[in-house]
Amino acid sequence: MTGLEIKLREALELLEKKHLKRTVYAPFSGQEKPKNWIDFSSNDYLGLAQDAFLKDRSKEWLSLYGSGVGSSRLVSGSLSPFLEVERVLAHFHGKERALVFASGWQCNVAALSCIINFARETYLEEPLVFTDRLNHASLHYGCALGGARQIRFRHNDLNHLKERLQSCQHKKGQRFIVTESVFSMDGDQVDIDSLLELAQQFSAFVYVDEAHACGLYGPEGRGFSYGKPGCAVVMGTLSKAFGGFGGYVATSAALCEWLVNKSSGFIHTTALPPAVWGALSAALEKIPSMRYERQELVEKAQFVRQKFRAMGLNIAQSTTHIIPVIFSSSAQALRVAECLKTYGIYTVAIRPPTVPVGQSRIRFTLCAFHQWKDIEILCQAMAEIISELQIEEGAEERSSR
Ligand code: PMP
Repeated sequence: MTGLEIKLREALELLEKKHLKRTVYAPFSGQEKPKNWIDFSSNDYLGLAQDAFLKDRSKEWLSLYGSGVGSSRLVSGSLSPFLEVERVLAHFHGKERALVFASGWQCNVAALSCIINFARETYLEEPLVFTDRLNHASLHYGCALGGARQIRFRHNDLNHLKERLQSCQHKKGQRFIVTESVFSMDGDQVDIDSLLELAQQFSAFVYVDEAHACGLYGPEGRGFSYGKPGCAVVMGTLSKAFGGFGGYVATSAALCEWLVNKSSGFIHTTALPPAVWGALSAALEKIPSMRYERQELVEKAQFVRQKFRAMGLNIAQSTTHIIPVIFSSSAQALRVAECLKTYGIYTVAIRPPTVPVGQSRIRFTLCAFHQWKDIEILCQAMAEIISELQIEEGAEERSSR
């Protein structure tokens, strides 16, 4: 073993000791999943990943066009049905054009960095990039690759954003505001209209990541940014409510054309396979009419939030189908996730660095495939586990005194 590998082992052991080590394992073997587990960790919010309509279209495109396209979009990997899907995606968001990337992560890194770099090169001034402190890692990497020093505002605090914008008023660079619309780990949502007012007041370019909102919120699931031209770039992922894989931006034709020409994360990678595009084309046909599923999700989420609050659990400022329960330590979050498994409930403990230190949590996500009885099992299980753990903790405290 090399010296570096020995150091790696030591670093991993340290993570383990701090309850921060992550492991890739297969919690369920594909088909077993729906039968044996109630999964409250999935981002398949509309249940489309198992939808027959999507699967059939996916299979159809697989047999029509093959398992892969063998090159990037700019070589021979751009089949005409892909362009049509992007056209429909743009229309879904009410934008001139949409561009699909290999993943949501890659899209944020590739698109955001490219736009920031363009602003710097064009105005010959450092761009001023205002970012929510809890933005997704991919947004941070996009800013970093764009060479921007982020001006962070307190999470979802538009007064603080305003202060930050005011304090930079004397500077000349292009202003950007980068935010999620529904925050991935807290399940709260930005007040998009107030944010857009600020953006207008300070001439800021707005980039909104709607990864957790697209398909679910806004008219026909078109996101909170729908019909709001002030949102210059709407970013979405195809791996959550869309039930497939990939990421995209929906924006102006000029900006898309620029990304096609300058964004390495678009240019220098192979196009997504036809089966993935097929599923996307079917999802786009289906999502606008899924109002019943969206409404049910809102009601179930409201029910769970009320129940959890009544149990005295800390669910932060969640207002959506993403409901975090924040614990005092990573160990406790891990323990509750383990206990939930004995009830047939699958969740995972989310720990730093994904969330801030001291805010380890279980992130419960409600999806259209959950039945009311699943929701009741969840609430009952949490009530029992919490009261049991409190008793145990009390016992530990007593014995340690
Ligand atoms: N943005 C946000 C807010 C996310 O939560 C995620 C994924 N968790 C991404 C982007 C990346 O999307 P993908 O999983 O498609 O790479």
